[in-house]
Amino acid sequence: MSTPADLEQEQLILDSVGRFLDREVKPHVHALEHDDIWPEDIVEGMKALGLFGATIGADHGGLGLSASTYAKIVETVSTVWMSLAGIFNSHLIMAATVERFGTPAQKESFLPRFATGELRGGLALTEPDCGTDLQAIRTTARRDGNLDYVINGTKTWISNGIHGQIFALLVKTDPAAEPRHRGMSLFLAEKGPGFTVSKKLEKLGYKGIDSAELVFSDYRVPADRLIGGAEGRGLQQALGGLELGRSTSRRAASGWRGRPSTRRSPTARSARPSASRSASTRRSS
Ligand SMILES: Cc1cc2nc3c(=O)[nH]c(=O)nc-3n(C[C@H](O)[C@H](O)[C@H](O)COP(=O)(O)OP(=O)(O)OC[C@H]3O[C@@H](n4cnc5c(N)ncnc54)[C@H](O)[C@@H]3O)c2cc1C
Repeated sequence: MSTPADLEQEQLILDSVGRFLDREVKPHVHALEHDDIWPEDIVEGMKALGLFGATIGADHGGLGLSASTYAKIVETVSTVWMSLAGIFNSHLIMAATVERFGTPAQKESFLPRFATGELRGGLALTEPDCGTDLQAIRTTARRDGNLDYVINGTKTWISNGIHGQIFALLVKTDPAAEPRHRGMSLFLAEKGPGFTVSKKLEKLGYKGIDSAELVFSDYRVPADRLIGGAEGRGLQQALGGLELGRSTSRRAASGWRGRPSTRRSPTARSARPSASRSASTRRSS
């Protein structure tokens, strides 16, 4: 249960996000959305605020916020421009798959860089022939010796696809497996040879955030990028990460509808919580 101190701390965070929105986003949002411009300066500001590490644990350099506080941030941001929430939320879904299911080495290597926004990305599940029924994906990863997998396939509608550098990529490591999910695995795929952005997808709204088709053509990924280090767990891992996205998408929608913000007058300078922040504004890890 939240104490008055927790709520005070949460309000300080929302206030600083609100001030950022007033100063850095509101004056530009119409032009950026209308012209479908990726908001580079605003992304830099969101990095400085710590939003790319909002739900990542403090032990890995994130803010370690609770789902409840994070959802309020998503709603507050979405009252001004929902696309911004999509940029960091897709990234944090990818981060959640590593934090929840990754090996200790994967957590140590990637989470601090995800938290600062130095390395950003999203989740690559959907394919041209398959969205809801993820077990029908056709992208394959074939093991080549002990060191690498070779990935072939196409992903579409991938948020942050153009400006992100790394994606939690759902593939079939055993296309013949029954049940089908036992043959599915999740990799951390960083852009490199064999991994190309084939096109930007145009949208009627929700612009600013880049949606792209990604093509993998004999793309080699080191075996240590298999999330959790074992094949056959990819679907559960992807769905586990999506838990964060599903709950916050609802808050994004209510923010976008223009629900009144719960903000009070500004008092804090950064979203980064103070050392004295008490436990329940942090999420339980
Ligand atoms: C702006 C945007 C951003 C996106 N970002 C990402 C991203 O970052 N990463 C990613 O992987 N994907 C992303 N997607 C893709 C999104 O996840 C898919 O569009 C979604 O999963 C639905 O897939 P689909 O479009 O193929 O629809 P379909 O799977 O064809 O479904 C169409 C309709 O049929 C219904 N339906 C499907 N199967 C059944 C069934 N068996 N029984 C009853 N009803 C059924 C569905 O509920 C839906 O209403 C994004 C899409 C958009 C538009």
